Amino acid sequence: MKSEKKYFKNKNTKNSAIAENLVFVRTKKALGQNFLKSEPALRKIIEAGEIKSDDVILEIGPGKGKLTEKLLEKAGLVIAVEKDRELFEFLKIKFKKEIKANTLILVCGDILNFNTNAYSLKPSAYKVIANIPYNITGAILKKFLTAKNQPASMVLMVQHEVAKRILASDKKESILSISVKAYGEPKMIMKVPARYFSPAPKVDSAIIVIKNISRKIFKENEVAEDRFWKIVKTGFAHKRKKLSSNLKILLKDKDYGGIAFVNSLGNKRAEDLSLLDWISLAKQ
Ligand code: SAH
Repeated sequence: MKSEKKYFKNKNTKNSAIAENLVFVRTKKALGQNFLKSEPALRKIIEAGEIKSDDVILEIGPGKGKLTEKLLEKAGLVIAVEKDRELFEFLKIKFKKEIKANTLILVCGDILNFNTNAYSLKPSAYKVIANIPYNITGAILKKFLTAKNQPASMVLMVQHEVAKRILASDKKESILSISVKAYGEPKMIMKVPARYFSPAPKVDSAIIVIKNISRKIFKENEVAEDRFWKIVKTGFAHKRKKLSSNLKILLKDKDYGGIAFVNSLGNKRAEDLSLLDWISLAKQ
């Protein structure tokens, strides 16, 4: 009886169901596979993306294509990069029509090796929208925020704790929060409970958006990016030390000798400085 029902279903459903029956897909923990099943959360991601009909969207890890489907309804072109070969084969069948119509470019590969100049992607003319594998959150942020070819904005599902750190919601800055704020404007969209995923991850998640991605802050303040990062990284090197002690090491270097006023930082710690404080340190 059961198999009869399944057979019946196969004959009468769309490509996605056919694909699920043709391609056996094992869930792989190592690839951070937690598939989002909540309609409201999917809708929020789409809303936060403010997608226009001629937008080019880069999706990282489309998985079983739930978010991809929604992106395709709104965007002009979706480029989806999936590392899992089995899921890639599944998606190829599921989105056969869209691939043929050139509204979806499906790529099998590691997003960290993805060439941001490929597929005619232009600076500030594409958006990254994705429920990403959490184990490479930092690497993804670094890759896209510091790319020559930066996206205009990013909407990402990340771990809730990471979202809070990016936004420095406890008023404690970190290299992560300073890094994101140096290139864009992060905002919390919504907290997403673990049960909204299948399989459910151990931790809660959150949707964030990073808007207006650019290098404006460096240009306007005439601060070289590498100088800025050297100072920030040195400042955060030893968490328990005072900022002035951490930065003293730079004073021996003639390129950074100008920041001699580190002594005036008093008892401040790296986490107390805002992005603009770091910028003015780098300006000296
Ligand atoms: N976006 C889907 C799946 C999220 S799970 C959804 O919302 O349901 C994360 C996805 O990223 C998985 O499909 C996983 O296979 C893929 N992935 C993991 N590491 C990757 C990498 N380095 N590059 C591209 N995709 C990756």
